[in-house]
Amino acid sequence: MVYGPAPESASQANEYLEAHGRKFDLFINGAWQAPSCGVYFESISPSNKQPLAKVAEANAADVDSAVAAAKKALPGWVAIGGHQRARYLYALARQIQKHARLFAVLEAMDNGKPIRETRDIDIPLVARHFYHHAGWAQLMSTELKEFREVGVIGQIIPWNFPLLMLSWKIAPALAMGNTVVLKPAEYTPLTALLFAEICQNIGLPKGVVNIITGPGSTGAALVNHPDVQKIAFTGSTDVGKVIRKAIAGTGKKVSLELGGKSPFIVFEDADLDSVVEGVVDAIWFNQGQVCCAGSRLLVEESIAEKLYAKLKVRMEQLKVGNPLDKCIDIGAIVDKVQVKTIDELVKKGIMEGNDVWQPSWPCPTEGYFFPPTLFTNVSPSASIAQEEIFGPVLVAMSFRSHKEAVALANNTRYGLACSLWTEDINLALAIAPQIKAGTVWINCTNVFDAAAGFGGYRESGFGREGGREGLYEYTKLKIEDTFTDKPVLPKVSKSGKVGNASQNGIHDIDRTTKMYVGGKQARPDGGYSTRIKDSSGNYIGEVSAGNRKDIRNAVEAAHANTSWPGMTGHARAQVLYFIAENLAIRREEFANRLVLMTNQSLESALEEVEKSIERIYYYAAFADKYDGMAHSTIQRNVTLAMPESIGVMAIVCPDESPLLGFISTVIPAIAMGNNVVVIPSETAPFSATDFYQILDTSDVPGGTVNIITGAKDELSTELAKHDNVDGIWYFGSKEGCKKVELLAADNMKRSWVNYGKHRNWLDQAHGEGEVFLRQATQIKNIWIPYGI
Ligand code: NDP
Repeated sequence: MVYGPAPESASQANEYLEAHGRKFDLFINGAWQAPSCGVYFESISPSNKQPLAKVAEANAADVDSAVAAAKKALPGWVAIGGHQRARYLYALARQIQKHARLFAVLEAMDNGKPIRETRDIDIPLVARHFYHHAGWAQLMSTELKEFREVGVIGQIIPWNFPLLMLSWKIAPALAMGNTVVLKPAEYTPLTALLFAEICQNIGLPKGVVNIITGPGSTGAALVNHPDVQKIAFTGSTDVGKVIRKAIAGTGKKVSLELGGKSPFIVFEDADLDSVVEGVVDAIWFNQGQVCCAGSRLLVEESIAEKLYAKLKVRMEQLKVGNPLDKCIDIGAIVDKVQVKTIDELVKKGIMEGNDVWQPSWPCPTEGYFFPPTLFTNVSPSASIAQEEIFGPVLVAMSFRSHKEAVALANNTRYGLACSLWTEDINLALAIAPQIKAGTVWINCTNVFDAAAGFGGYRESGFGREGGREGLYEYTKLKIEDTFTDKPVLPKVSKSGKVGNASQNGIHDIDRTTKMYVGGKQARPDGGYSTRIKDSSGNYIGEVSAGNRKDIRNAVEAAHANTSWPGMTGHARAQVLYFIAENLAIRREEFANRLVLMTNQSLESALEEVEKSIERIYYYAAFADKYDGMAHSTIQRNVTLAMPESIGVMAIVCPDESPLLGFISTVIPAIAMGNNVVVIPSETAPFSATDFYQILDTSDVPGGTVNIITGAKDELSTELAKHDNVDGIWYFGSKEGCKKVELLAADNMKRSWVNYGKHRNWLDQAHGEGEVFLRQATQIKNIWIPYGI
C-alpha cells in the first residue's frame, strides 16, 4: 500500500511569525530588546530553503545586559523558595502543553525534523522536563538540604533538539534557584523565542530567563562573562574543548554534553525484526543528527548478512521529504553546511573501500535532504567508523566473540551511549557494565526521560542532565562557602620538636625514600632526589624526584591492575578496614613523622592520625553503600542508575595535613574501585612514603595506589595531559588548578580542583563526604524494558 501525503497545516505557525513581522529581538529582563549592533540574521526552513524570520544578533554588550538582568533577578528567585519556583515551572509545563501543536510545527519548520517526532517525542518530553523539575524545586529544601544555587548560568544549545535541549538546561537550573541566559543555535532559534513569550505570559519574574540569539561569538561572550558562574553546553566536542579551556581556572562550573559514535550491538539470538525497527530509531531518527545516534552497527558474524538484507528492505520503504507530512520518516538536514559535511564523509568512506548501499528512490531536491545510507564490511579504523558523521549514515561491522564486541564498541574516543540487542538478559547485563558509555539501552534505543540522567564518558563530555544526578550540576554545597584562602596548618608546638627521628622509631631518615609503583618500591628514573625540610627550614631527609617516565610507569601499572576494579564493594571495604587496622598499630610512628615534618605537637599529630583512621572507616563503610538507583521513568523500563569508577585517576594531594590530606583524597577514590596515581604533599611527603608499607601489608593489589614524589606542579602537568588518565583531582595553587583544567581538556578527562581554596582536613564537614564519592564515579543509566 502506498501512503498519500498527510500534511500538517503550517498556517498557525505562519500567523504567529507574521504577527511578529517575521522579526525577533532579544529577550532580556522580561522584555524584547533590539540588538545593540542593529544586525539581524535569517532563520530558514531547511526543507524548502524559504526564510522564516529575521532574528537579532547579540553582541558582547547585549550579553552583558542579559547577564546583568539574570544577576539582578537572582536574589529574588532564590528568596521566593522552592514551592513558588515549583509553581512557575508547573505553569511553564502547562503552557507548553497548551501550545504543543504550535511548538511542534514551528520546530519542524525551523529544524527540518519530521512533525511526527516533534509532536510525539520532542514537545511531550519538554513538558515532562518542566513537570519533573517542578517537583525537584518543591523538594530542594528537604532532599538537597546541604546545597544552594550556583548563580547565573550561561547555557548554549545546539540545533538538533532545539526546544528539548532548552528544557534540559532551563528546567533544572530554575528548579535549583538559578537564573539563566540561554543562547540557542543560529540555525534553530524560533522555538526558544516562543518559549520566551510563554515566560512572559505566566509572569515569570523579569530576568530569571533571558534568551539571546546569535552566532558562536555570542556564545563565547557568554562563556567568558565574569558574572556567569556556570556554563552548560551541548554541541560538538571541538567547541566543548574550547569552552573548557576558556574557563580554566576561573572556578566556573561546567557541564559538557558532546559528540558520540555510539555502538548498536546485535547478538545472534536477537529478534531481528525488532532490531531493524531499532536501527531505524537509532540512526534515522532526526536524520541521524543525534549525539547518541546508534551510528556503528556491530553484528555477530553469523547473522550479519541476514540482518543487512532485512535492513535494505526496510530502508527501501523509508520516506524522505516534507517534515510537515505526517507520513514522513526522515525530514531535512538542518543546513547545506551539514549536508556537505555528511556528503564528504560518505565519499571518504567510499574512497576508503567500504561497501555502500542507498535506496533506489531519489530524495526531494527543493530542500536539504540526504538519503539513508548503509556502509557494510567497514574496517574499525576507517574514518567513517571513527568520526561523528551526524547524518543518516550507518556504518556496520561484524564480530565473532563477545569480547570482540566489547572491544569494538569501546574502540572510540567517545562514550555517550550504546544499544544492546539480545533475547538473553544475562548476556545484556554482563555486557552493559563493560561498555564505556553514560547510557546503555537494552533492546531499545534513543529513549529519554527527565527522571534519568543523560551524559557522557570520555570525549562525550561530563555532567549529567536529568535525574537526581543532573541536579548536582546546578547546585553547590553550602559548606564550600567556608573554605579559606590560606591553608589550615597545624599549630607549631611551643615546646619544640618532640624528640628526634631515631628516638621516635624512625631510624632510616638518611635513606632516600623510594616511590611506589605497581605494588613495588621504585627508584626514580632520573636518579635525582629532593631535600625535604621541616616547617622551620631544618633538613629532615630526602625523597625521590619523580619525572615524566615515572608517571608513565605508574599510569601503566594502574591500568594493568584489573583485580581492584573487579572486586565487590564488600571486598574493597575489607581491605580498607585492614588498612585502618594496620595504621592504628603504627599510630605513634606516623604521629612522630608528622611532628618531624610539621613541628606540630605530638598531641595534634596523634589527632591527625586518629582522624585518618576514622576517615578510612568512613569510606570503607561507603564502599558497599554508595549504590545507584532505579529511576522512575515514564516508559515501561527499569532504569538503573549505576555509579561506576572513573578508571585510572590522578590525585594531587594538598601540601598541608600530609597524612590526612593523603588519606582523605586517596581512600574515597579507591573505595569506588579506581586505581590511582598519587602525588603526595610536596613539602611533607614522608607520611605517604611510609604509607606504602601499610598498603603492602593490607592486601591491596599492586597498582591500586601508585605514589610518585617530587615537584607537585611538574608532575601534575604530566598527569593532566596524559591520555590514559581518566580523571584528575588537584589540591594546590590557583595557577596549578588553571593548568590542570587547561591540559585535562585535551582528552576531556574529568577534573576536580580547589581553585586555590583550602579545606580544614581535620574538620569532618570539610574533609569528607559524599561529594568525594560523586567525584570518584560517573553514573551509567541502563534501560531495561519490560512487558509481555
Ligand atoms: P557547535 O558545537 O559549533 O554548536 C553548538 C552551539 O555552540 C551553538 O549554539 C553554537 O552557536 C555555539 N558555539 C559555537 N562556537 C562557540 C564558541 N566558540 N563558544 C561558545 N559557543 C559556541 O556545533 P555545530 O552546530 O557547528 O555542529 C557541528 C558538529 O557538532 C555537528 O556536525 C555534530 O558533529 C556536532 N554536534 C553535536 C551535537 C550534540 O548534541 N552533541 C549537537 C550539534 C552538533 P551557532 O549555532 O550560532 O554556531
